[in-house]
Amino acid sequence: MKTKDEMAMIKHHLSDRLLMAYSAGTLPEAFNLVVATHISLCAECRARLGSFDAIGGALLEKVDASAEMSPETLSQTLARLKVQGESPREPAAQVTDKVLPQPLRAYLDGGIEAVKWRAVGGGVRQVVLPTSDHASARLLRIPAGTSVPDHGHRGLELTLVLQGAFSDEADRFGRGDIEIADEELHHTPVAEPGEDCICLAATDAPLKFKGLLPRLAQPFLRI
Ligand code: ZN
Ligand code: ZN
Repeated sequence: MKTKDEMAMIKHHLSDRLLMAYSAGTLPEAFNLVVATHISLCAECRARLGSFDAIGGALLEKVDASAEMSPETLSQTLARLKVQGESPREPAAQVTDKVLPQPLRAYLDGGIEAVKWRAVGGGVRQVVLPTSDHASARLLRIPAGTSVPDHGHRGLELTLVLQGAFSDEADRFGRGDIEIADEELHHTPVAEPGEDCICLAATDAPLKFKGLLPRLAQPFLRI
């Protein structure tokens, strides 16, 4: 179980848009998994989800006509997120593993110790999780003090920290924090010294790496 103190340390939360789409069941499985995992760690987002659930799935259609957001951006985002018939919703569950919250454990055989990591270069290791093809989800293990290659994004990237912490151009992210990256963010995440940083990351489009080597390796790594 998470202590109240630990929960209070979560600084970076899900956006209303993600919570709404999750509530309406329109997210691809990989994003559903990240949202469900954050919610299992975060009482604040769990409460916000509760109010969206109460409003119901009809909300999304009404939001379409809202003047608050640029209609173009909104429809683009919804088009990106709207994939029919994705996985069942994971209920908010209590934490039963020190690193892996319950929604995530359903995707792995055993706990964090049993994960079959594969090297992706620069000491970074990953395991791709079995989700539908509309978006991909992976666990990333970044050695303490190491950086992930500098990259930009073509679509949406959600990164949820499960162990350790990383910092990038935007801020510092510790356990439970979620970074929402889109086309506008170009970043070089660096794991803090002391403990390997383990993250759950989901993307709906290939990342844009600056370096040649990561670019060459991309098709094989499904990043
Ligand atoms: Zn939250
Ligand atoms: Zn990124």
